[in-house]
Amino acid sequence: MRRISVFGATGSIGVNTVDLLRRQGGAETFDVVALSGGRNIALLAEQARELRADIAVTAFPELLAELRAALAGSDTLAAAGPAAIAEAAARPSDWTMSAIVGAAGLAPGLAALGRGGTLALANKESMVAAGPLMLTEAARNKARILPVDSEHSAIFQAMNGEEKRVVERIILTASGGPFRDWPLEKLRDATPAEAVRHPNWNMGARISVDSASMFNKAMELIETKEFFGVPPEQIEVLVHPQSIVHSLVGFVDGALLAHLGPPDMRGAIGYALNWPRRSPGPLERLDLGAVGRLDFSPPDERRFPALALARAVMRAGGLNGAAFNAAKEVALDGFLAGKIGFLDMAGIVETVLEKMNSGDDLKITTFDLDRVLEVDRLARQAGKDAMARVKNRF
Ligand code: NAD
Ligand code: MG
Repeated sequence: MRRISVFGATGSIGVNTVDLLRRQGGAETFDVVALSGGRNIALLAEQARELRADIAVTAFPELLAELRAALAGSDTLAAAGPAAIAEAAARPSDWTMSAIVGAAGLAPGLAALGRGGTLALANKESMVAAGPLMLTEAARNKARILPVDSEHSAIFQAMNGEEKRVVERIILTASGGPFRDWPLEKLRDATPAEAVRHPNWNMGARISVDSASMFNKAMELIETKEFFGVPPEQIEVLVHPQSIVHSLVGFVDGALLAHLGPPDMRGAIGYALNWPRRSPGPLERLDLGAVGRLDFSPPDERRFPALALARAVMRAGGLNGAAFNAAKEVALDGFLAGKIGFLDMAGIVETVLEKMNSGDDLKITTFDLDRVLEVDRLARQAGKDAMARVKNRF
């Protein structure tokens, strides 16, 4: 039986992953090793019972007693805290889903890569903050990383069987989010409630706000560069409001291969789960006749400054991605908490990058987890300082 672990099992990606495991036979088909979650103990325990997981881990130590009680009478071991999550990720498994949100997904992802097998990577933050580290760790342990972000899955599928040297460009599509057509003036006053209302995809709150600011696409630019090893100038972004073309790859002969599908993450998750084969999946079948038209336009980098910031990060490389990711997370928290405005998020990230690039913080060449976590810490502090100054302006 194939051994499976799911980190972030109770989130949007996690629940979709569990849904696919269930549809393919659940505990009858898979040997489920570890599941992790956060505050939703009831759901984590229910998933662990259904899939007969060896261990279930909540990120929060104070919830351990509750998890133990919820798992009473089952064969699943209860554990809690970041170290327990990383330990669970180091348990032998053939296929591991990395679907924790934020930089917290980095250590478990690395732990999973440390013992080989396949890592299905939804946690784009780990590629943005520590792409070279993730790839080295995978190579060192003969582990494989399969992309789960819909764009990167689309690119991966379009490149299937092609040599890297025949790839001329990669075009990432972006829905444009709920603020696609909002003028700059209106963006200034955008609220968190407005920002989480994504027109096409049903996702966690944080990635939904990132989609509205296009920080999500900015992260995906960096993720593309790191994952596929293409130079930044060969990666483009195209706004495509229908979210049906998930991305495109252009080849040296002028051919452009697109991947199309309904906006349902079970497409990309299922592809990673069944790779290198395809298996029957629950996606609604596209009726292009009913869709009628597909629109494309270039993004407006003035209203969405996150994209230019990502380009600067890609050019600078090294630990800039770690600083970018951490500063973005702090700014996002600030926006969600009502401390700063929507457009302040990009301003904060820019300030942090400027500050950290003016010193030596990002110049160190050794790329290990401790160094990444140290840069993450420094960038968060710099982000909080910058945020305090924004607040004081009012
Ligand atoms: P979510 O918020 O719905 O779920 C996050 C999961 O991580 C939950 O299980 C939560 O309990 C857990 N978690 C939260 N904080 C944690 C912490 N500090 N330590 C350990 N676990 C923690 O998020 P999501 O939308 O499922 O996204 C998960 C990841 O997948 C993110 O990196 C996101 O960028 C990426 N992704 C999501 C989508 C999508 O459609 N939702 C698409 C592409 C990529
Ligand atoms: Mg995506």
